[in-house]
Amino acid sequence: MFGNRITLFKLFGFEVKIDISWLILAVLITFTLARGFFPHYYKGLPLLTYWWMGLSGALGFFASIIFHEFWHSFVARRYGLPMKGITLFIFGGVAEMGDEPPNAKTEFLMAIAGPLSSIFLGFGFFGINLLIPRSDPLLPMKGVIGYLAYINLILAAFNLLPAFPLDGGRILRSAIWKWTDNIRWATRVASWTGSFFGIALMILGILSIFQGNFIGGIWFFVIGMFVKNAAQISYQQVLLRNVLAGKRVGYFTKLDPVFVPPSISIEQFVEEYFYKYHFKMFPVVEDTNIVGCINIAQVKNIPRNEWNQHTVRELAKKCLPENTISPEADTLKALSLMKQNGNTKLMVVEDRKLIGIITLKDILQYFSARMDLEEYSGK
Ligand SMILES: [Zn+2]
Repeated sequence: MFGNRITLFKLFGFEVKIDISWLILAVLITFTLARGFFPHYYKGLPLLTYWWMGLSGALGFFASIIFHEFWHSFVARRYGLPMKGITLFIFGGVAEMGDEPPNAKTEFLMAIAGPLSSIFLGFGFFGINLLIPRSDPLLPMKGVIGYLAYINLILAAFNLLPAFPLDGGRILRSAIWKWTDNIRWATRVASWTGSFFGIALMILGILSIFQGNFIGGIWFFVIGMFVKNAAQISYQQVLLRNVLAGKRVGYFTKLDPVFVPPSISIEQFVEEYFYKYHFKMFPVVEDTNIVGCINIAQVKNIPRNEWNQHTVRELAKKCLPENTISPEADTLKALSLMKQNGNTKLMVVEDRKLIGIITLKDILQYFSARMDLEEYSGK
């Protein structure tokens, strides 16, 4: 979901990062506030003041999102869920969970914590706004605080839409989960409503564009698309987690992997291994111990007429840790390694011994076989 992320700071043990896409949102908000919102509601101030108000408003919005995500993270950590940190991106923020909540009550509490904190903040700013007189020197400050009151309440309202994986959708899921005791069914209903709200926002966006609200319309459309996609992806992830829960890498490991002895020449390696198996990379194994890895890019560095003068041992390099996994590891960890590095195979290694290979294809085949069998049998 994220491209380039920059770590901003660490607070209470949570890392706060921004995705590059967030900068677009920051510029857009500053601009809209400085050129539209503030001049409309607070007339007659100097142009530079509007820009200052716009910038402080955008920073305040940014802090409000972090506050909201922090409360999700606090409650999640309180119930023992590992939290990876908070990332801000073009559609707001996410508190990244290392795992799904273990039960309906935890999900409910961690989901509602965010919107409640935003409502609290919104009313807090509203109170301060009322205390500040509408007189000249304090007017810009009153304006910014008034905006923050309004934006926090919007943030709470938007997140309370019953569209999974938004907070409201998680609350809905926890209720159905509690009621039916079936997380898969609960997730399915919650992501249906997520897709429904996503499509509704997209239609609203198109209608707005036809009514002349071009920027607002596009914004609604894109957010709708995001909610719809997120609902579908979250559902698939929950299914995958559910089906693969407790399955270790060893279960999916294919034994007798293809490996290359270090003593053979490059010529032999190309003829007998590369042309035969077409893998991108081969493990090099001596006396059952894995001594390195060799790939075809390394071979390309050697002129063809020297292939029989060099051995695999000379060319092999240390295997990258992202290409190997322990048989004891969780299969979900293997999947996330594959996803991170675009690999469809990993070497299964224990105490420097190559045990076998785990492939994406085998995991997915198991997944679809399980889904076939369990489609109508509830959990
Ligand atoms: Zn939230």
